[in-house]
Amino acid sequence: MNTYVQTKDVFVVFYTSTRDNNVKVTASKAITDGISPDGGLYIPESIPVLSADEIKALCDVDYKERAKKVLGLYLTDFTKEELDYCVEGAYKDGKFASEFVAPVVNLHDNVNILELFKGPTCAFKDMALQILPYLLTVSAKKNLKDKEIVILVATSGDTGKAALEGFKDVEGTKLLVFYPNDGVSPMQKLQMTTQEGANVGVCAVYGNFDDCQTGVKNIFTNKEILDRFEKNNLVFSSANSINWGRLAPQIVYYVSAYCDMVNSGEVKFGDKINVVVPTGNFGNILAAYFAKEMGLPINKLICASNANNVLTDFIETGVYDRNRSFFTTVSPSMDILISSNLERLLYILCGRNDETINDWFGKLKSEGKYTVSDDVKALIGDMFFAGCCDDTATAETINETYNKYNYLADTHTSVAINVCDAYIEKTGDKTPVVVASTASPFKFSKAVLSAVEGAADYDDEFATVDALEKISSLKAPEQLSALKGKEVRFTQVTAKEDMAEVVFNMLGI
Ligand SMILES: *Cc1c(COP(=O)(O)O)cnc(C)c1O
Repeated sequence: MNTYVQTKDVFVVFYTSTRDNNVKVTASKAITDGISPDGGLYIPESIPVLSADEIKALCDVDYKERAKKVLGLYLTDFTKEELDYCVEGAYKDGKFASEFVAPVVNLHDNVNILELFKGPTCAFKDMALQILPYLLTVSAKKNLKDKEIVILVATSGDTGKAALEGFKDVEGTKLLVFYPNDGVSPMQKLQMTTQEGANVGVCAVYGNFDDCQTGVKNIFTNKEILDRFEKNNLVFSSANSINWGRLAPQIVYYVSAYCDMVNSGEVKFGDKINVVVPTGNFGNILAAYFAKEMGLPINKLICASNANNVLTDFIETGVYDRNRSFFTTVSPSMDILISSNLERLLYILCGRNDETINDWFGKLKSEGKYTVSDDVKALIGDMFFAGCCDDTATAETINETYNKYNYLADTHTSVAINVCDAYIEKTGDKTPVVVASTASPFKFSKAVLSAVEGAADYDDEFATVDALEKISSLKAPEQLSALKGKEVRFTQVTAKEDMAEVVFNMLGI
């Protein structure tokens, strides 16, 4: 047992599973496990509240203090010392290329950009994956006796690198990343295949992101494999956004963005904002939903998708149907047909009915399709707006954003800006907006350069980066430039059926 003392005014949060309401575990257990043994996702039994006074107080403190406050409400079996250690380590000065960690910049009028890509790997995944290794190792101490944690990651590009960077050489952990062979940008691939660290491995898969994600999920829930792990004193966990330890840190930056917008005069304290999120696995926007439910003044949650617009259709019709063509786009981190975290939202909206969730997600597995009830559809319609745009429109938005506002946005962010414009045009809503910007444009140099210049005919990724630097007068983040000429360590490609073998080989079991 841990040493946390429950007092009268401390709010203790337990976690249950979206597929079994009988599950009741601590936050540290939820983080250690990653996914519930029944295949459901861990979710807090109730959502803690931030009062207006508490939000106001957070306006006067820095990102780390905001993180301690918000995370403290969710991770109630962490001691204050443990939480301080995690937050101070993850967001220590100099790790993020901004003193605000996640700064808000004004794009034009009342449209603002929340820059979530200032971390070590230049994508928003760093916001959570810099702290997850701390949360996980502290959690494991409470829940596991001297077992080694094996983390398997399925990535559409950015999670893999951010996890590798977060977990490299972290004692008691091993990390193995699977990415779709033809589904990541050249820079993303290079970031992963050149990764340093004695405890990490990287393997490409013949297939798309969903194949990688399904493969990892199957390994996690395979009894034989779990037994083999047990015998070797190993235990699985997850660094994907199915792990609550990924979600909770993402709530922080919405609270922080609101405070920064109050401080800069962009919004009056108490007034609402709209949030636009370029969405893939539904993690980032789910964090915004939690922030709203906690009491942060958020009006609409605007869900932006690329040509893989399964979520747009779902939010509009209440029918989730993954039986459709899969497109490889210029925003690869959103090339997803199964958005895992939607399960958490639906669980809450259907009144925490685990039977309903088993029914819908059983259908998703067997038929690739489910339809939510009219009530749930209506609740979604009240809170969310959805839109999508294809690669041509994404390029036009990059071009326009650059030429009109002198802001160089990456492909994912541009999908969100496009959908934001469409929302404002359609509704006339004048609420101040914050658009989550999820990656540095230099991670997707070729697509960004050709959008701005009309062409980008360089064979070499770094020639493209140079050209983008020249025309934009911006400097590429040093950690990307430094990849030039770096030794490639990982070249293996596997069939999706053989992913378990790759895991055994890496672990030598
Ligand atoms: C992961 C990612 C997304 C999608 O975020 P989700 O939490 O999966 O919805 C969007 N943009 C970039 C650059 C990403 O890396």
